[in-house]
Amino acid sequence: MLKTYEELEEYVKGLGLSYEPLCEDWLGHEIFVARKKGDSEGKVLIAAGAHGDEPAGVYAALELMADAKSNLDLYFLPCRDPVGFNSLSYVLSRLLQVEIYVFSFGDLKGVCKDYGERIYAEWDVYVYRIGDVGLAYSTRCYHDPWAGENYVTEKLSKAAKAGLLDELKGKRVLVPAMLPLSDGVGLFSRVYSLYVTSDGEVVSYNTVRRENVPKEVAAVAELVDRLKPTLTLDLHEGFGEKFYVFVNSKPGAAERKLLMGAFNRLRESKLELLSVEEMEKLMRGMGDREFLEDGVVLSSGEKPTLSLYASKHGASFTFESGLMADLEKRIKMHKLAVIGALEALGEVLE
Ligand SMILES: [Zn+2]
Repeated sequence: MLKTYEELEEYVKGLGLSYEPLCEDWLGHEIFVARKKGDSEGKVLIAAGAHGDEPAGVYAALELMADAKSNLDLYFLPCRDPVGFNSLSYVLSRLLQVEIYVFSFGDLKGVCKDYGERIYAEWDVYVYRIGDVGLAYSTRCYHDPWAGENYVTEKLSKAAKAGLLDELKGKRVLVPAMLPLSDGVGLFSRVYSLYVTSDGEVVSYNTVRRENVPKEVAAVAELVDRLKPTLTLDLHEGFGEKFYVFVNSKPGAAERKLLMGAFNRLRESKLELLSVEEMEKLMRGMGDREFLEDGVVLSSGEKPTLSLYASKHGASFTFESGLMADLEKRIKMHKLAVIGALEALGEVLE
């Protein structure tokens, strides 16, 4: 399995699809979109990898690039944050131009002490500035192995609101993956990237707009406005061990058809959807979310995600596989759900 972004790029170039560089990330990795040309009027954008600690969508997108059979015009943006696909050791080594190995919190503390400047510490959350980026981590996983980066993001948002992270305005903040029990994620083997806006808002790479975001994200917004996709599928990972979808509004007839296409494909392979009850339990107290039916969550629309950004051009969904399942199963969920949605779109467009 591919471990670094360089391997990923090499793999995709070997597939021989048409390939368009979009922008370089802050470490010089090339973010690209690859196209599998079809004869349909509508364009489909399949995106993944906005959050480095959610690798299943990236692998699913790569597999789909290689073997999806469809007459639709498909655009793949398999990795929105190349830095995040890599391990923390790799990223810090590139940043500091020395060999760095981080396998434990002890190692991480050492690196921060040797190369960083501490700018914030409260409870079990620590924030450093190393060169031109921030680095934030928490030892929370000792008490809650599924707290993940949500916990750090929440604490940083509060600190930023209180003016404690002003030094990081306009900078990216690296958060090492902190899901020790999640297959393919673990500790320190991926990086979740945040960004502190000029207004002191802490946003992830899935806050998609053209301004006040890192250039990696602005490039995605520009791509969407240029393609105007009939369908956008953004692959993420989240709660539990099953599959679910975030919608931006109550699905109309055509959108329902796409969702049912995805869900039927999953059911055929005995892959389950999160039930309404399970979603209520797992996402309790997390903003205004409405659980419309099994596997379908209506997000409040307050978060400007890629899916919301793309919804002005066509149907768009955020697909989620549960990080508690095996990586292989999660990849399969995304792959089948995308294939099902594409088949349904083919029928809608006919
Ligand atoms: Zn995500």
